[in-house]
Amino acid sequence: AYDVLVIGGGPAGAAAAIYAARKGIRIGVAAERFGGQVLDTMAIENFISVPHTEGPQFAASLEVHVKDYDVDVMNLQRAEKLVPGKDMIAVELANGATLRSKTVILSTGARWRQMEVPGEDQYRNKGVAYCPHCDGPLFKGKRVAVIGGGNSGVEAAIDLANIVSHVTLIEFDNKLRADDVLQRKLRSLPNVDILLSAKTTEVLGDGQKVTGLVYENRIAGQRHTLGLEGIFVQIGLLPNTEWLKGAVELSPRGEIIVDHHGQTSVPGVFAAGDCTTVPYKQIVIALGEGAKASLAAFDHLIRTSAP
Ligand code: FAD
Repeated sequence: AYDVLVIGGGPAGAAAAIYAARKGIRIGVAAERFGGQVLDTMAIENFISVPHTEGPQFAASLEVHVKDYDVDVMNLQRAEKLVPGKDMIAVELANGATLRSKTVILSTGARWRQMEVPGEDQYRNKGVAYCPHCDGPLFKGKRVAVIGGGNSGVEAAIDLANIVSHVTLIEFDNKLRADDVLQRKLRSLPNVDILLSAKTTEVLGDGQKVTGLVYENRIAGQRHTLGLEGIFVQIGLLPNTEWLKGAVELSPRGEIIVDHHGQTSVPGVFAAGDCTTVPYKQIVIALGEGAKASLAAFDHLIRTSAP
């Protein structure tokens, strides 16, 4: 049995593991894919003190750092069920094994909802992007589209309009769903067009990078092509928490509800990173939250475990 069991091996899980290991307690990390979302990332330019790195390199460094410590790393292991208990919390894995620990830190991250149209996969990181805070500056002076007219899409369009030459916001519905104040700001910008009732049907490219997209006007039924260099898909970030339904309290969006210490609704169960209600899904934030949840788990152990 562990003192701290971390589920998830992205930035949040890695930070939680290292902070716990430095306390000299028994620690395990079970991750479906150690490294997490950064494995799918190309350039990372906002990890403070490292001006530029690549996602796979960053993920490899996370693993090296964690393995510097006495941590039981169980890679390629998917957690399927959390069973809270009085002294021990159990986590059941897809391979049939059950892990037991005095505290658990959930850091299973999130995934961006995809458009699922031809070209999207082929041009991911080659013009198709999901995070304006991460990739916006790569499109300085270029033309981009933002897919999705909810708060995150409209915020992304306003943000990008400062950096790029032109933004086309594409919304499937016949109206934007974003807050009025955001819509007013968006409509005041000179370099933004808004297309309503428009369904993106294809990402176009030259084999190397994005050159445009095809959308269908859902009312007239006609197809149009837009020439551009970037497409920011903003149709939802889905937390990887389906397996936790009924076990810990989740927000309506499925995020794990945590307090300022990363404590969930279940004593001894903490959470950190993109799978939680903490706003702004970024590497530096996930790392900080992982460290915080780990210190909170240690604090919990001091208060509840027999000496
Ligand atoms: P994740 O990185 O999502 O890690 C989750 C971990 O949990 C993984 O190991 C996963 O395999 C595991 N897991 C999931 N479900 C289970 C389960 N049931 N059982 C066991 N393990 C499970 N942020 C930046 O700051 N700068 C950038 O430039 C940047 N670029 C990005 C580019 C792309 C393409 C993407 C997708 C994201 C980018 N981000 C960037 C966001 C950043 O990657 C995330 O904010 C960060 O990775 C969140 O860390 P996390 O540890 O919370 O979750």
